[in-house]
Amino acid sequence: MNKFLMLFSLGLATCVLSGALVLAANARPQPAKKSLMKTETRKPTHSKSAYDIRPLTQARIDELAKKLTPEEARILLKKGTEPAFCGNLTDNKKDGVYVCRLCGLPLFSSDSKFNSGTGWPSFFRPFDPDHITYEKDTSHGMTRVEILCTRCGSHQGHVFDDGPKPTNLRYCVNSASLEFIEKKDGTIPWPEASRPVKVQNAYFGGGCFWGVEDRFQQVPGVIDAISGYQGGRTKNPTYKQVCYENTGHAEVVKVVFDPAVVSYSELLAWFFKFHDPTQLNRQGPDVGDQYRSAIFAESEEHLAAAKKFIEEQQKTDRFAKRKIVTQVASVVDAGPFYPAEEYHQDYHLKHGGSCPLPEN
Ligand SMILES: [Zn+2]
Repeated sequence: MNKFLMLFSLGLATCVLSGALVLAANARPQPAKKSLMKTETRKPTHSKSAYDIRPLTQARIDELAKKLTPEEARILLKKGTEPAFCGNLTDNKKDGVYVCRLCGLPLFSSDSKFNSGTGWPSFFRPFDPDHITYEKDTSHGMTRVEILCTRCGSHQGHVFDDGPKPTNLRYCVNSASLEFIEKKDGTIPWPEASRPVKVQNAYFGGGCFWGVEDRFQQVPGVIDAISGYQGGRTKNPTYKQVCYENTGHAEVVKVVFDPAVVSYSELLAWFFKFHDPTQLNRQGPDVGDQYRSAIFAESEEHLAAAKKFIEEQQKTDRFAKRKIVTQVASVVDAGPFYPAEEYHQDYHLKHGGSCPLPEN
């Protein structure tokens, strides 16, 4: 029995090298149960719903603050609270989204609003978990959890654990901290400041997808990295099929990115730092065509950039004596990307063993 089969029969997934490290070492400290305050050190540049959540500069905040009324400024910038039953949004039952009054980031949606009877707008979950930041608040002789807008840091209210299912949370928010955008004819007329970024997708096969996904997820400007299968013949393949049947799929990571922050060319450069593009149908100890080096391009522009990049790389000292064997194809020829099973997603984040980005 070869090493791969032996590991598989032991009930372990593949990714021999990274998997072994994962099992052995440095699981991240888990946040206390029910605690909303993250101990996670990674600070994403974008939320999963594709909003740029990098903190605004003080100069930008000061500029935005000019539009606030004194009462709004007292609440948003000085952690004030409006009197109960006085806000204009407490009883609002219309369909739409609630965005940060200062910077426009969507914070809550009407589908999670409920009547708490407290006199303040109440929600059981945020629009996107990354859009809210939590701080311990010991003012007024109480210990509470303050909620702030992740992007501009403005005060929104507090969160309590006496809310309805499914979260059992109650986000208690000041009306003055929010601006309501009503849905019209089935769509939200998003103002400029409340729109997500226009994303692009890149597809990279560089051996075991756990490690490739983990590293791309750390690149500034990458919104999401998803492990999956692509480049083969079988529709909706399972991991077992990709390992044991001749499906032709490679383990591929779909990278969703903001081209205004990281360019496709920069992603290509990262990709070549993350793996060895000269190994044919393998990557380190992982052997088989599912581990092949591959780039599947979603546009003609990406395809041309990938071909040019490889041509240039081949001329560098790094590859002077070794041929780059990376497969390059358009997604039209490679076929659809199929996300892998849930247990493969964010593997290093869930189990530890993450590798920092290489420096050079
Ligand atoms: Zn904000």
